[in-house]
Amino acid sequence: MRIGISACLLGDKVRYDQTDKRNEDIINLLKGHEIIRICPEMSAGFSLPHEPLEIRGNSVFSKSGEDVSSKLLEGSRSCFKMIKDCDLVILKSKSPSCGYKKIYDGSFSGRLIDGNGIFTSLCIENGITVFNELQLEEIKEYLNPADSAQ
Ligand code: SF4
Repeated sequence: MRIGISACLLGDKVRYDQTDKRNEDIINLLKGHEIIRICPEMSAGFSLPHEPLEIRGNSVFSKSGEDVSSKLLEGSRSCFKMIKDCDLVILKSKSPSCGYKKIYDGSFSGRLIDGNGIFTSLCIENGITVFNELQLEEIKEYLNPADSAQ
């Protein structure tokens, strides 16, 4: 299958604080598949490191209060072009760009709410199957339905 994946899950140090979230379990699952790595924040042109970003209402703000919604939407659109033919995407949970199901609430206090990142919403609106890296069993089942039926 052709799989889009958040670059930080592969070990790229592209998070706002210039760290990664390398995930060996996910990397093992990807063997034998075609991988397309994306990072909407890098594609948007954010420098490294950069301020943390969070979604509040329908907008995305930096911690100091700059509205970066348009910038991030542009980066997300450019990444979407790269993954539009993928069978699925595996995205980093909680991120304002890649988060799926849960994101931070915009108060920069560590509180989570139900919601999706900007790039994730674009994927969902366009019919792409989305998982976050915490859905290991669901991803396995999606990639190998026969194994799961045994
Ligand atoms: S934008 Fe996505 S890929 Fe880039 S660092 Fe954040 S979670 Fe990872």
